[in-house]
This record gives sequence, structure tokens and C-alpha cells, in this order.
Amino acid sequence: MKKGLLIILSGPSGVGKGTVREYIVKTNKIDITFSVSMTTRKPREGETDGVEYYFVSQEEFDRHVANGDFLEHASFVGNSYGTPKQAVEDLRNQGKNVFLEIEVNGATQVLNTVNDEGVISFFLMPPSIETLKKRIAGRRTESKEIIEKRVAKGMSEIKEADKYDYVIINDKVKTAGEKIIKIIQEKLA
Ligand code: 5GP
Repeated sequence: MKKGLLIILSGPSGVGKGTVREYIVKTNKIDITFSVSMTTRKPREGETDGVEYYFVSQEEFDRHVANGDFLEHASFVGNSYGTPKQAVEDLRNQGKNVFLEIEVNGATQVLNTVNDEGVISFFLMPPSIETLKKRIAGRRTESKEIIEKRVAKGMSEIKEADKYDYVIINDKVKTAGEKIIKIIQEKLA
């Protein structure tokens, strides 16, 4: 069986990675499986353990790090996030196309360690810095301090864009989502 693709969607905090991912799922045009990450962040309202994330304690997370269980892991604004290695490998070996929506540090680790032909990476770019700031501030679940940290981090992350196979400007979710879908479809053809 042909190994599934490893699709990476990254980009600065607040660029709308989650929304673009949701669009891609909703259209149902490509057969992809989402990798559920592990995080030490507390669940937000409406989030369910095992669906959006596996929510774990810092101790449990650190144990997985020590065991080498993560394909990549990174700390992001005070919390840890990681992609379970075995799950991704198993899914790809079953021919499933695995989709990772992860922040830039983690994506860099994946790009540096997994270099088979089946890796395809997208960097989602905000149309402007102003848009990025507005989008982060509009997310009212976070404190002012965290919002400022996310904006600063987002600005430095934009410098990483040229490491990716494709840079996609997220002006409109539909346009960005469709561009990504088309590129994946071409790779799968
Ligand atoms: P949030 O806390 O808003 O759900 O996610 C914060 C950031 O962590 C987002 O940029 C999201 O893409 C990223 N993220 C989610 N899961 C992972 C992961 O497994 N690894 C890494 N490196 N980043 C992740």
C-alpha cells in the first residue's frame, strides 16, 4: 500500500490556521485524517478531550517527551503542544493522508526530520500585520498580556515562511482553503 502524505499547515498565531483547517474538512473534497495533538493547555469551552486535543498534565507531557513519543513538540505561550509520533506513522502506513495544523517551531522540527517524498508543507500568511493583530485581539478568550505575546511571536514567525513548499495568503478562508485543496489533489493524482 502506498504510504499516505504528511501535510503540514503552519503559520503565525492568529493567521487563521484553525479556520482554514475547518474549511478543508467541511468541503470533504480530499481524504485526510487529522492528527490529534497533546497539550498542557486547559480545554476551552466546547473542547473535548481526544477531539481537539488530548489534554494532559505537564508531568504526563514531559514523560512522553522523555520517551521520545513526539514527532515534534513545542512550547507555545506558556503551554506545551506535541504531535504523537506513532499515531502519525501508523496512519500513514495505512495509506491515510495525515494533516498537522501546528505552530512554526514544531513545523520546523518536522521539516528537518521527516524528509520523505510524501511531506507537503504550507505556510499560511496573513494579508498584513494589521490583520494579524486584529485577528489575535479579536480572540477574546485570552488576556491582554497573552494577546501581546501572540502578536510578537506571530511577527517573528513570518520570517520562517521560505522553508515551506507553499506560502498561501489567508485573505479569504475559502480562497486559501481551495488553493490548499487543489495542491493536495494534484499531489495525490
Ligand atoms: P491553541 O492553544 O490556540 O489551540 O493552539 C496554539 C498554537 O499551537 C496554534 O498555532 C496551533 O496550531 C499550535 N498547535 C496545536 N497543536 C500543536 C502540536 O501538536 N504541535 C505544535 N508544535 N503546535 C501545535
